[in-house]
Amino acid sequence: MDKIFDNTKVAFALKSDSELDRAYFLFKLIDNEPLVRIGTAVTNFALKAHLPVEKLIRASVFDHFCGGVSEDDCVPVMEKMYTKGVCSVLDYSVEGKEDEAQFDSALEKILKIIQFAKEKDAIPFAVFKPTGFGRLDLYKKVGRKKLLNFEEHQEWDRVVARYEAVSKLAFELNVCLLVDSEESWMQDAADDLVTRMMKKYNKVKPIIFNTLQLYRWDRLAYLKKIHEQAKQENFFIGMKLVRGAYMEKENNRASAKGYKSPICATKEETDTMYDDTVAYMIENIEQMAIFAGTHNELSSYKLMQLMKEKGLKTTDNRIWFGQLYGMSDNISYNLAEMGYNVAKYLPFGPVRDVMPYLIRRAEENTSVAGQTSRELMLIKKERERRKLNDN
Ligand SMILES: Cc1cc2nc3c(=O)[nH]c(=O)nc-3n(C[C@H](O)[C@H](O)[C@H](O)COP(=O)(O)OP(=O)(O)OC[C@H]3O[C@@H](n4cnc5c(N)ncnc54)[C@H](O)[C@@H]3O)c2cc1C
Repeated sequence: MDKIFDNTKVAFALKSDSELDRAYFLFKLIDNEPLVRIGTAVTNFALKAHLPVEKLIRASVFDHFCGGVSEDDCVPVMEKMYTKGVCSVLDYSVEGKEDEAQFDSALEKILKIIQFAKEKDAIPFAVFKPTGFGRLDLYKKVGRKKLLNFEEHQEWDRVVARYEAVSKLAFELNVCLLVDSEESWMQDAADDLVTRMMKKYNKVKPIIFNTLQLYRWDRLAYLKKIHEQAKQENFFIGMKLVRGAYMEKENNRASAKGYKSPICATKEETDTMYDDTVAYMIENIEQMAIFAGTHNELSSYKLMQLMKEKGLKTTDNRIWFGQLYGMSDNISYNLAEMGYNVAKYLPFGPVRDVMPYLIRRAEENTSVAGQTSRELMLIKKERERRKLNDN
């Protein structure tokens, strides 16, 4: 890979020395798996008991991984990143709310973000989570084609109306819209809805993007099926490609309930599935657009190579690389420096409501699961470089 992602001067150009020190300290803490488990349990308890821990969370994990509490807080962060060619995807990261008022307020937020995105080149995409618009159990029931009672029918109609409202506005304002993916047991119903939106609003170009979690062994076959449908019914496919964030939950549920896990048996199989799917999409890029959401250097590099082989420009607007704010700046900023399209998810929301998101980030960064050692190594390298250069 020629160490193309190792240029730490580029990677951390926007970080002051003290911000770099804070990042080092944070990743050092996260690197310790037992500490993350204990820290998570204590934090959850403290929040439930209404202990005043929000300040502490803000000063540590929150400010590293989030743009702020509101979209306005995110503006300076977003503008700063854009000076280096890195765009933002404002991600309203409130999770685990299950009432209609919350779903409607999430809808209002996303509509506002789409409008906001229309005015800012630094925000090429809006995004939402399926469970931000409806109850997980309802998705599950619809996906399994279970009979809904009268109230559930009405409830589902409201979920569909929310998808319709954001998709229509995204189409009218020409702002691409990403839909995240979640647990496999609710995903079928979300997939059907997003495909309906693609069919309706992706007639001229990909505006609506679904997400494929490539830790699932059935996803490339699923993409091929949607591709057949798209060819017959004439619409473009937009896909965010990720490996998937709910592996432990998926495997635990499958073994508790005694069904075959939807997750690939090994990390290597997931990696192959990811890279094969990227290759399939590049092969069929005439009808597709890719948002490669990954912190994996090799997968990012392979996509760069495929673009080169196919003669695609680095700036081809059908291909985007995406990372999460606070992670893998070495990939984001080096790619942007080379002229590729890059957008970082910039989460925001009230501190306690963003906790599920933060906990997922902490868990996936532990020494067991994650790439923390790489983050630490790069931060260390940059601190040393600055010391030597006296800047
Ligand atoms: C911009 C962006 C958007 C995202 N959106 C979503 C989303 O909508 N839905 C979602 O679920 N996640 C999402 N994620 C998170 C993503 O799914 C991954 O959890 C995260 O990016 C880590 O994977 P990786 O490709 O970066 O890197 P890697 O570190 O190379 O891969 C780690 C991943 O590999 C898989 N894996 C690890 N061990 C095994 C094993 N033993 N067997 C099989 N597979 C294994 C897991 O998926 C794990 O998360 C998003 C990530 C980004 C950057």
